[in-house]
Amino acid sequence: MNEKVYDVVVIGAGPVGQTAVSRCRAADLTVAVVERELVGGECSYWGCVPSKALLRPVLVLADARRVDGARQAATGAIDRQAVFGRRDRYVSGWDDSGQAAGVEAMGADLIRGHGRLDGVRRVAVATPAGDTVALLARHAVLISSGSGAAIPDLPGVAEVHPWTNRDGTDSSRVPARLAIVGGGGVAVEMATAWHGLGSAVALLVRSGVLTGMEPFVGEAVIGGLRESGVDVRTGVGIRRLRRTGESGEVTIDLDNGDVVEVDEVMFATGRRPLTDDMGLDTVGLAPGSWLETDDTLTVTGVEGDWLYAAGDANHRALLTHQGKYQARIAAEVIAARARSAAVDVGGWSRFVATADRFAVPQVFFTDPEVGSVGMTERQAREAGLPVSVVDIEIGEVVMGANLYADGYRGRARMVVDDSRGVPVGVTMVGPGIGEMLHSATIAVAGQVPIARLWHAVPCFPTVSELWLRLLEAYRDRREPTAG
Ligand SMILES: Cc1cc2nc3c(=O)[nH]c(=O)nc-3n(C[C@H](O)[C@H](O)[C@H](O)COP(=O)(O)OP(=O)(O)OC[C@H]3O[C@@H](n4cnc5c(N)ncnc54)[C@H](O)[C@@H]3O)c2cc1C
Repeated sequence: MNEKVYDVVVIGAGPVGQTAVSRCRAADLTVAVVERELVGGECSYWGCVPSKALLRPVLVLADARRVDGARQAATGAIDRQAVFGRRDRYVSGWDDSGQAAGVEAMGADLIRGHGRLDGVRRVAVATPAGDTVALLARHAVLISSGSGAAIPDLPGVAEVHPWTNRDGTDSSRVPARLAIVGGGGVAVEMATAWHGLGSAVALLVRSGVLTGMEPFVGEAVIGGLRESGVDVRTGVGIRRLRRTGESGEVTIDLDNGDVVEVDEVMFATGRRPLTDDMGLDTVGLAPGSWLETDDTLTVTGVEGDWLYAAGDANHRALLTHQGKYQARIAAEVIAARARSAAVDVGGWSRFVATADRFAVPQVFFTDPEVGSVGMTERQAREAGLPVSVVDIEIGEVVMGANLYADGYRGRARMVVDDSRGVPVGVTMVGPGIGEMLHSATIAVAGQVPIARLWHAVPCFPTVSELWLRLLEAYRDRREPTAG
C-alpha cells in the first residue's frame, strides 16, 4: 500500500485540530487532517455554538425584564421557531462545507474517514468509500479527537433513548416536560435554554451544582433556576428509567422514592474519550483512555516525542479556548523539534501550556451568568498558598451594575496570594458577567500585582467598577486603619 507522507498528521478537525493545522501550516509544515464526521467538531455543531445560539435570546429577554421601561415591552412569549432558525444559521444547517473549505484554504489536505494509529508515526484512515488511506508523519501525529457524552449504565437507560448534548442542541422540538440529569456546566446551561424555550424542566443532580467552583456559584445558579420555575432536585440518584411504548412518556424512579414523569430525559453527566478505536494499542497505550500529556502536549508513555494530544482528548481542560491554546503550543513544539531547535520548558516559554495549571477561564451562560478564572479559595489553600479572600455583593456596591440591571444581584470573589500580592483566582456571578471575565484572566494569568491593579481604572458607570470594590475590600482587609 502506498503511504502518503506529511510532516504532521492531525486526527480530528474540531476547533482544536483546525488550530493545530493553521499553526503548523504557518510554520511551513505539510499537514493532513483526518475527520470522520463534521469539520468543526462537537463545538461547532453540538456544543458551544448551538448552545449559545439557543441561550442568547433567553438571556436577552431575562436582561430586558430587569430594566424598568424595557420590561414593559418584553411581555410576549419567546418565538421558538425564530430561535431555532437563528441556531440553524450558526451551525450552517449542520453542513460543514464552509469549514472544510477553510481547512483546505490553509493548505492542508483534508482526508475524510476514521483515523487510527498504526504504529509509530503512522495513521490508517478508513474512508467512507471503504478504502484505507495510509499516512506517514515525518515529525508528528497530533490527536484532537475530542470527547463524547458519557451516559451512566443505569437500569433502563438504553430503552428510553435519552437525549445527550447532541439532541439538546440540535432539536427543534420542545418537549413539554424535560428532565436533565447532571449538575455541571452543560446541565445548567441546557436547563436554562430549554426552560426558556418553554419546557417544564426538572434538573436531577446527584450531588451539587457546579461543585468545582466557589460554593456561592452553585447557590446562585440553583436560586436563579428555581426562581424561573425549574424544578431543581439535588442529592438525588436515579434507580431506573422506563418509557411507555416507543415514544411515550419516560418514568424516572429516584432513589429517594420520588417518581418523575417527563417526555424526554437528557443526560449531561460528563464526557468520555473517543479513543477506544484509535489504534492506541499499536503504540503501547490503553485503548479508551484519555491521552495524558506533559506541558508541551507530548503524550507521555510513548518513545520519541512524535505523538501529541490537544483539546478534550487530553482531559486537561474540556473547553474550546483552552484546547486551542494547547494546539498553538503543540504546533510551536512540533515546528521547533522539526527544525531540531531547542524546546525551552522554563518560565513563560511559548512551548509550555502553563495556563492549564493556574489560569483556566470559564463562563457559564446561565441566569445569573458565571465566570471564573484560576483557583478557588479551597484549591489555593490546598496548594498551600497563604491567601486572603475578599467578596463583594456587586449590586450593593457598584452603581453601574444597578444601571445595567435594576436591583442587580451578583457576587464577586478575589483570592489573593498574600506572599506575592497577586490575584490567583477570581469568580464572578451576575448578569452580563461573562463579557467581564477577560479582565480577571489578564490579572490572574499575568500575575499582575494588586499594587499595579490600583492603576487600572475601570470606567464609571460600568459593572467593571467591581474591580475597585474588590481592591478596596482587599486593602481594608489588609490595612484596616488606612483611609
Ligand atoms: C453542550 C456543550 C456546550 C459547550 N459549550 C462550550 C462553551 O461555551 N465554551 C467552551 O469553551 N467549551 C464548550 N464546550 C466544550 C467544547 O465543546 C469542547 O471543549 C470542544 O469541542 C473541544 O474541541 P476538540 O477540537 O478537542 O474536540 P471536538 O470539538 O469534539 O472535535 C473533535 C473532532 O474529532 C473527530 N474525530 C474523533 N475521533 C476521530 C477519528 N478516530 N478519526 C477522525 N476524526 C475523529 C470528531 O468527529 C470531531 O469532529 C461545550 C460542550 C458541550 C457538550
